[in-house]
Amino acid sequence: MTEQLRYSRHFLLAQWNEDRQQQLAEQKVLLVGLGGVGSAAAPYLVSSGLGHLTLADFDQISLSNLPRQLLYQDADVGQQKVQVAQQKLQLLNPACSLQSWSEQVTADSLNKRLAEFDLVLDCTDNLDSRQQLQRACYHQQKPLLSAAAVRLEGQISYFPASAAGPCYCCYSSALSQQEFNCLDQGVLSPLVGVIGSLAALEAIKILSGLGSELAGKLWCFDALFSQWQQLQIAKNPHCPVCSVAV
Ligand SMILES: [Zn+2]
Repeated sequence: MTEQLRYSRHFLLAQWNEDRQQQLAEQKVLLVGLGGVGSAAAPYLVSSGLGHLTLADFDQISLSNLPRQLLYQDADVGQQKVQVAQQKLQLLNPACSLQSWSEQVTADSLNKRLAEFDLVLDCTDNLDSRQQLQRACYHQQKPLLSAAAVRLEGQISYFPASAAGPCYCCYSSALSQQEFNCLDQGVLSPLVGVIGSLAALEAIKILSGLGSELAGKLWCFDALFSQWQQLQIAKNPHCPVCSVAV
């Protein structure tokens, strides 16, 4: 009964029903990176009824995080992001099973733990982590939703578990580290909320069986000129990940 009331606005949707809500409650997501995009996506995932969320980030909260990482407050500066995030998110929805992963995510740790998840949400802020995560997802056939925001540009892409590709590396291998790093590139705060919310929305669609039109596509937002663009990602025949036989 409480669930009926809590999710009543979902149930009013023609496309939603108890089965979808239950399906969402049974899914496990690994969210890597609790910066601006990750800390915008996580509350919507938890409040919407996701069953299990594992938060991965080895960073601590700094003062310069606060304008855009709204899970954290002044009193949290210096604490581990995953610990503070887990506490705040648990208050938001006690029914969600939350885990935290405060060590640096490595190829080895991904190889050991990735199997338990239904979807990986990449909200990291550097290309090395993104490529490592995508490589592990590709080889373990895990769906990967990738979201990023820097400067006045945001992007989101989705790669279902498929050996056929394209994969994230098909286009990201041509990018430089600077494409993703707001540490030296800057970012306007609300942009991370737009992209993080969009990532949560796409994740909920994928996990509840509503699907995603974003498979194999890159959706870009130019905040300066208020323009959206969706591009089909071409499979790169020389991709270092999906063109190499395992
Ligand atoms: Zn590829």
